[in-house]
Amino acid sequence: MTGNNHNHNHGWKSVAKGTLGGGFSFHPKLAIWLEEYTNIPKETELEILEVSCGEASCPTEETMIVWKEHEFRISRKKEKISKMDVDLSWKRFVTKG
Ligand SMILES: [Zn+2]
Repeated sequence: MTGNNHNHNHGWKSVAKGTLGGGFSFHPKLAIWLEEYTNIPKETELEILEVSCGEASCPTEETMIVWKEHEFRISRKKEKISKMDVDLSWKRFVTKG
């Protein structure tokens, strides 16, 4: 196995919890954008998870927002998520059903 492809396993690590109404301490705008571009319920408790790969050669950075039975993934480190990441990731998420 090499570190350059993604045939090795990535563990998800829970890094934060919160609601869109309360906001997230790691990102001043994320809750606002999620409210604007997604239909994630405002007062539902969300769990934020990040990939923790451990391999220095692996560039994977991914964030997952979990609520109820939903798993919304954004291919960006949680602190670096942009408005466009939220918009495009949500469009992909709803398209997949
Ligand atoms: Zn990896």
